[in-house]
Amino acid sequence: MPHIPAPKRIGVLAIQGDYAAHAAALEEVGAEPVAVRKPEELEPLEALVLPGGESTTMLKFLEKHQFFQALQRYCASNPVFGTCAGAILLAREVLNPTQRSLGLVDVTIQRNAYGRQIDSSILTAPTSLPGGPLEMVFIRAPRILKVGHGVEVLARRDGDPVLIRQGHIMAATFHPELSHDRRVHSAFLALVDSANRR
Ligand code: GLN
Repeated sequence: MPHIPAPKRIGVLAIQGDYAAHAAALEEVGAEPVAVRKPEELEPLEALVLPGGESTTMLKFLEKHQFFQALQRYCASNPVFGTCAGAILLAREVLNPTQRSLGLVDVTIQRNAYGRQIDSSILTAPTSLPGGPLEMVFIRAPRILKVGHGVEVLARRDGDPVLIRQGHIMAATFHPELSHDRRVHSAFLALVDSANRR
């Protein structure tokens, strides 16, 4: 009998925002999504997704429920993928306005950076992921203004990094879970795989 590996159990922070869309995307790439609402739920999971939504609301919840430090500890040593508000939570420095963050990805990020009129948009831009240009859904998106030396840029929008990786962490300023293309979630699973083999 061939050995069929059990699906990876990947947490999705389910405090607020579009965690259900991430769960569906993870299922499509063969993982088992698990909703995370309490610190103790992180422990058995192989990796975590921080979804889009409203980073201030997530931050308030995390602080109110003594969850901030446990999340920071988990994300410091396990594979994590943050999209939009999730990317804001992971950043080293947040602007517009300044706000507390986990400080695990060496970027400066500006919230709601693309102006009122065009605050949400869908466009196709080049990426270094195999398979050609990628559809990107931006919703009141942040803009990555600065990246540190250890940060690999996997896609850009008009020169701005929009998909990045630093070690075991990936972040996107757009919403790959809202497109049909599953290359970004597959790339994250590949990252989880390589982290397991280290
Ligand atoms: N504007 C939100 C924030 O600043 C992010 C938007 C999103 O996640 N789609 O937290």
